[in-house]
Amino acid sequence: MAQLKRVAILGSTGSIGTQALEVIAAHPQLFEVEVLCAHSNSNLLITQAKQFRPNAVVVTDETKYAEVKEALGGLPIKVFAGHTSLADVVAWESVDVVVTAIVGFAGLHSTIAAVRAGKRIALANKETLVVAGDLVARLAMEHKAAIVPVDSEHSAIFQCLVGEKYNAVEKVILTASGGPFLGRKPNYLVNVKASHALQHPNWTMGAKITIDSATLMNKGLEMIEAKWLFGLQNEQIDVVIHPQSIIHSMVQFSDSSVKAQMGLPDMKLPIQYALAFPDRVKNEFKRLDFKEFSKLSFEQPDYKTFRNLALAKDAMYRGGNAPCVLNAANEVVVHAFLQNRVSFIEMSDVIETVATRVAFIEQPGLEDHEQSDKEARIRAAELVKKSQLSH
Ligand code: NAD
Ligand code: MG
Repeated sequence: MAQLKRVAILGSTGSIGTQALEVIAAHPQLFEVEVLCAHSNSNLLITQAKQFRPNAVVVTDETKYAEVKEALGGLPIKVFAGHTSLADVVAWESVDVVVTAIVGFAGLHSTIAAVRAGKRIALANKETLVVAGDLVARLAMEHKAAIVPVDSEHSAIFQCLVGEKYNAVEKVILTASGGPFLGRKPNYLVNVKASHALQHPNWTMGAKITIDSATLMNKGLEMIEAKWLFGLQNEQIDVVIHPQSIIHSMVQFSDSSVKAQMGLPDMKLPIQYALAFPDRVKNEFKRLDFKEFSKLSFEQPDYKTFRNLALAKDAMYRGGNAPCVLNAANEVVVHAFLQNRVSFIEMSDVIETVATRVAFIEQPGLEDHEQSDKEARIRAAELVKKSQLSH
């Protein structure tokens, strides 16, 4: 029987975090929660801690520490606050796997700490690889930390590559649902609001990634994520729109053969796969019935309308700190769009302008990334303020 894996879940109160807990609860003989970490949803964090009885809980928003500490008083659970504590806790001997499900740049330090400690990473926090993929990939090699993707497209590619170690990959093809505005043109997008953009046709996810899916920035971030996860050249990464979200991505090999991984859209599958790899674990998930999907279709993405995808691709080709700058500007505009302070179209304008205003660094280290991230956020916030919606 497989050995019990002790899991740290960073971002346990989010969409991926709560689904990871569902997977763990369904397989208590395989997985045990060692650490729970969340930012500000202290109520849910406390409920989760009482149910899963981890060894430690970390609340990164330090203002919530007293409340969490008091609620868990009397239980054998250590309570910590802040990102520095989190970086310590993920490196504990007792942690086998770290699920990185914090959203955004905020997940970078804890992911790096887990990589440096040589942990298995079940990676959901794609922004980490977008910002510092080169660095994280090098550290993972150096510290023998296996990074197993949770993102469904990358899990699909990862699964297609199992058993193909010595075979050359020609390219990977990331599938994209196209989001709620597939087929729409700029004259329509100019008026869309966050409430509309939050209605994703196939997936229920956190707010940030749902907006990224509507702008196609998510697919752009995923191109960069794929580059570092699988050690690819930029030219080897393609995107195709596949509105049914049944094929989760594909790999084309040097003999022209294409492998695809399929399934119903349910993040619990890639989460379970990343936790249990190399094993496949029997579960009760709904099975794919091809009779319900009489048509699987594919089309080219519209790079002209969904400029964020083109901007992300550009940043990938430019390399250096360009993806870090793109990511920071994007985090700022998505936040503003959710608060109706910037329009859908203006999000791309801001990202494009910020890219030209932060100095290019060809080979950035971690401190350069921190600096570029800060600077890009300041520039993006200035531009957001100029939006008519901000007044
Ligand atoms: P979410 O918004 O639902 O949850 C985010 C989690 O991160 C919460 O637990 C929150 O407490 C924590 N968090 C937020 N800000 C933080 C901060 N400053 N410091 C520490 N913790 C913080 O997000 P999600 O949809 O679960 O996405 C999480 C990550 O997984 C993202 O990087 C996303 O791109 C990736 N991802 C998500 C999905 C999905 O289906 N939701 C699919 C693929 C990849
Ligand atoms: Mg994805």
